[in-house]
Amino acid sequence: MRATVCLTFDFDAISLWIGPMGATSPSMISRGEFGTVGVERILRLLARHDIPATFFVTGHTADTYPDSVRAIAAAGHEIGHHGYLHENPVALESKDAERAVLERGLVALEGVVGQRPTGYRSPAWDNSPHTIELLLEYGFRYESSLMGQDFTPYWCRVGDVIHRDGPYEFGPSVDLVEMPVSWILDDFPHFEYVSRPNRVSPGLSAPSKVEEIWRGEFDYMYRDVPGGVYTLTMHPQVIGRGHRMLLLERLIDYFKGHEGVQFTTLGAAAEAFRRGE
Ligand SMILES: [Zn+2]
Repeated sequence: MRATVCLTFDFDAISLWIGPMGATSPSMISRGEFGTVGVERILRLLARHDIPATFFVTGHTADTYPDSVRAIAAAGHEIGHHGYLHENPVALESKDAERAVLERGLVALEGVVGQRPTGYRSPAWDNSPHTIELLLEYGFRYESSLMGQDFTPYWCRVGDVIHRDGPYEFGPSVDLVEMPVSWILDDFPHFEYVSRPNRVSPGLSAPSKVEEIWRGEFDYMYRDVPGGVYTLTMHPQVIGRGHRMLLLERLIDYFKGHEGVQFTTLGAAAEAFRRGE
């Protein structure tokens, strides 16, 4: 296969706003509620194009919107782990605290979906020094939060040592596949306007700008990285707005217009990497 496209959706819903953002305003919370509208639109689009996708779901989203999450699974899409309340693992005070979040998310997802996820994506893409060890302990097959490659899966490591007065020390590779991501191929920073006391993320890009970037990444991979995996990260509450859904639809048509392009779940692409394909 010349190229693999993995459409991934982080279904944060309300958890993003009441968790790391600390929101109590019904207005901010309602932005997360819109995620369920986005999910309905995305599921219709994926069904029309017969494309399997991966949804990383927080435990809080599964507990709050079990019907939406079950609809995703019932449509044949993959469900991955994405924390409980969108906790940034780096901000958790200990390995035990991170373990508790991991377990809580597993309980919620298994309760709603009836299946244990094999993939993990850390909220905010921030792994702690313990994250990989914990994922191995809980039997995950892949994770998707690092940026050491763009279109080529690779093996995660444990035991890196940071030296500031000499070369960086890389730890050994472990039995966990990294499906790399990048902020370029993420809808949130491009589109989502967020104003907080200490930070303003302007967002609100025109789709034409994002389309140019997302197509450019694909064009380069298609030409120069044969067999590459193009992983797009989107959020139902962001991409679910009308003009952006049209962008996603145009992109799907664009990818489909190339010979030898397949759409798979991230889990399937990780297993293909394990098989050496
Ligand atoms: Zn998220």
